[in-house]
Amino acid sequence: DSFIKLNLPRPLIQACETLGYKKPTPIQASCIPLAMMGRDLCASAITGSGKTAAFALPTLERLLHRPKRVFATRVLILTPTRELAVQIHSMIQKLAQYTYIKCGLIVGGLSVREQEVVLRSMPDIVVATPGHRLLQTGFATEIQELVRLCPKRRQTMLFSATMTEEVKELVKLSLNKPLRLSA
Ligand code: AMP
Repeated sequence: DSFIKLNLPRPLIQACETLGYKKPTPIQASCIPLAMMGRDLCASAITGSGKTAAFALPTLERLLHRPKRVFATRVLILTPTRELAVQIHSMIQKLAQYTYIKCGLIVGGLSVREQEVVLRSMPDIVVATPGHRLLQTGFATEIQELVRLCPKRRQTMLFSATMTEEVKELVKLSLNKPLRLSA
């Protein structure tokens, strides 16, 4: 069991080596091949299971594998909290360190002007947290609006430690024939 067997490109395998990852965690072993095929995923994964790399590695692989035709942001990662957004952004920068891929961070506390600077630089990936808390009252409307603004043809992955009613609602709203995984 190794990252090489998952058919990840060399710069990503190299980043895993630099980070000291010897082999994929169970959630990574199950998610990476399916995500690389372009499937929508709904994964339950506890903190510390390696879930960030489970969606970040196949996302980076797909960006590298399908070179961009236009100068644009191609990936949006939404998190329920600022802290999680900061962590995911930092993890992605480490995983993408041997590639050209740039990741931007948009969280509360940044001025509109600062957010504009990030977005105008057209990072390949944007990690963001919505103004209101994602899984509280009114979230459905907010996510519906965000989903409506996303391209119809897209890949969506949802990772959550728990499958609450709110999360199930989010699955219905945003995923297309998702494969369900847990680790
Ligand atoms: P996460 O569940 O994404 O918050 O990751 C928890 C911790 O596990 C982070 O510090 C990661 O750097 C680390 N990690 C992720 N994947 C692996 C792996 N394959 N081998 C060892 N550590 C890992």
